[in-house]
Amino acid sequence: SLLVSIENVDMRYGGPDGTLAVSGLNLRINRGEFVAVVGPSGCGKSTLMKLTTGLHIPQSGVVIVANSQVTKPVSIVGMAFQNPTMLPWRTTLENILLPLEIVEKHRHRLRAHKAEYIAKAEKLLETVGLKGFGDKFPWQLSGGMQQRANLCRALIHEPELLMLDEPFGALDAFTREELWCVIRDLHAAQGVTIVLVTHDLRESVFLADKVVVMSARPGRVISEHVVPFVRPRQ
Ligand code: ADP
Ligand code: ADP
Repeated sequence: SLLVSIENVDMRYGGPDGTLAVSGLNLRINRGEFVAVVGPSGCGKSTLMKLTTGLHIPQSGVVIVANSQVTKPVSIVGMAFQNPTMLPWRTTLENILLPLEIVEKHRHRLRAHKAEYIAKAEKLLETVGLKGFGDKFPWQLSGGMQQRANLCRALIHEPELLMLDEPFGALDAFTREELWCVIRDLHAAQGVTIVLVTHDLRESVFLADKVVVMSARPGRVISEHVVPFVRPRQ
């Protein structure tokens, strides 16, 4: 069933004379799909992510997520963007719990089951190779470690839709491939819908079921490709 529908969207930054970042943008994503979005720098990949998560509202066209038109930030999504954005005055663990405090429906559950959520955050930290780093502050972590912590934060509330914008950029090749497997397992095991922006074509075909190609000036989707091989069973 359809989870995301972007219909004929125009998004211009900086007023009527500003940059037309995307124009005539169309994209449909079904529940359970793993879609990679590729294209040259400036083609509107990040804009697409922000439109889908409700961080930007388009000037024309509509964005529909889970049957409702997006007019404000969407609560069923988990997001991890290129630049780690941890709050410096909070520990890694407290940063990971943040989405639970922000999303209304999780807030009382967090209060009632705090210990469970802490255990879950610690388990996620272990999955991304950061066991024992929960009580460290962001400045005590390397860039790559912060990026991994950001991924934990995107997953803590078990989002229906996971939006990843170059989430592996600051990682060394070894850690990156480990995290690829984490993400791929997550998709296989839980059927979460994933949209991944990447520059890395190898990454896109390794992970995704479908690769969406965008072009610039103005940004739009020019083609979609189903990844033509069956993955071996784990
Ligand atoms: P990508 O993620 O593919 O590199 P973006 O979505 O970041 O592309 O950008 C698409 C276009 O919109 C680019 O031309 C970029 O310069 C412009 N743009 C993005 N964000 C802003 C902004 N906040 N203000 C003005 N222009 C922007
Ligand atoms: P990254 O690829 O994560 O950016 P770095 O080259 O900065 O890694 O660090 C290499 C390794 O050193 C990390 O994976 C981590 O195990 C360890 N490390 C880095 N910074 C710290 C820190 N502040 N405290 C403890 N260990 C650290």
